[in-house]
Amino acid sequence: MTVADGLVALVVEDDDFQRRTVARMLRSLGAREVQEAGDGRQALVSIQGAAIADLVVCDLDMPEMDGMEFIRHLGQADRAVSVIIASAQDRSLLNSVGKMARAYGVRLLGVIEKPVTLEALENLITRYEPPKAQPARASAWSARFSLEQILHGVQEKQFEPFFQPKVELASGLVLGAEALARWRHPEHGLVAPYAFIALLEQSGKIDALTLLMLEKAANACCAWRERGLELTVSVNLSLVSLTDTSLADQITQVVRSAGLHPHHMILEITETTAMTEVAPALENLARLRMRGFGLSVDDYGTGFSSLQQLTRVPFTELKIDQSFVTGCAANPSSRAIFESSVEMARRLDIKSVAEGVETQQDWDVLKAAGCDVAQGYFIAKPMQESAFLAFCAAETVR
Ligand code: C2E
Ligand code: MG
Ligand code: MG
Repeated sequence: MTVADGLVALVVEDDDFQRRTVARMLRSLGAREVQEAGDGRQALVSIQGAAIADLVVCDLDMPEMDGMEFIRHLGQADRAVSVIIASAQDRSLLNSVGKMARAYGVRLLGVIEKPVTLEALENLITRYEPPKAQPARASAWSARFSLEQILHGVQEKQFEPFFQPKVELASGLVLGAEALARWRHPEHGLVAPYAFIALLEQSGKIDALTLLMLEKAANACCAWRERGLELTVSVNLSLVSLTDTSLADQITQVVRSAGLHPHHMILEITETTAMTEVAPALENLARLRMRGFGLSVDDYGTGFSSLQQLTRVPFTELKIDQSFVTGCAANPSSRAIFESSVEMARRLDIKSVAEGVETQQDWDVLKAAGCDVAQGYFIAKPMQESAFLAFCAAETVR
């Protein structure tokens, strides 16, 4: 069986020779039918035709309608077509168009630098999957639970931390874990954060969840330490909570009553909105740091996590966003930003943490860059406390 077996393919390319070459390759890979178009406008007509393509191979620089515009229309048409971009443009432009395609909701199999080879084409087509029923999108999910339902769940303490290991790159030792909120819904099962965090933040009601997570994470960490596991625990703190100047005291109290010393807890701060009330946020953060909590800039390099914050908040950790980590071995711009962030952390004398490490290649880049700590699917996914303890036990044996 060949990779394109039975697929209807469409090649969008203004150069006749290249278009025919790619069409021939697709046939040799088993495509049932190959349609051709000389620019985006013709291509749009042909995807509205009877045999709608399963797979589109598309150039970017074309007269009339370029590849970017065609991809936008594809995204809006809500058709389950998979796309391969083939172009002679440079890597960073191709990367950017790849991100654009995903942002428009297009199923992108990948990007090929021209000239297209049979091998490269075959490689990407192996990623093709027939369309299945669309999974619920983030927006559908967040609409699925009302604020009242979420708050009720918090009140009933149905939320619990899942733990994802943080590992020292130099030694491979587990240093601690990040606690990530999961809602164990009595009817719907396990619910991920995107279904409840944003709604809680926007309505100013995130504190109840934060305090519950702090309590459960502190209890867990305290129990680990009693068993002789010298681990830390990281908890996410929403920036909007920091406007209330009593927050630092509330946090300290919850953590101390669980029996944990603040030294063993790191608070990760994500800035999804601009810090509008700077003074109370700085007051809270200074107080937390004074009491011994570690402070981490989460998602560093994105949104409002800016360089300016590093000069005014006493951070102890720089958590470099996964967009610069995942795939950094193959992406020179991500790698450059990643490596200079590690260097900056070193000069500021704070720890560098890479999140979103998914492959051995990326792990090797982090290690060579001298990054301190790694977190990601390559090491382990977030898991229940019992699984996390089993993971730690297996690691110490190794
Ligand atoms: P975050 O704090 O940046 O957490 C990292 C997210 O990346 C987690 O998603 C984790 O499961 C995911 N991740 C870890 N390794 C990998 C990897 O190798 N590849 C990929 N693709 N993803 C990886 P999760 O658990 O869905 O949490 C999403 C976000 O929700 C968190 O991002 C955090 O901002 C927020 N969040 C989670 N729990 C809480 C909480 O208790 N309070 C607040 N305020 N926010 C929370
Ligand atoms: Mg985090
Ligand atoms: Mg993050």
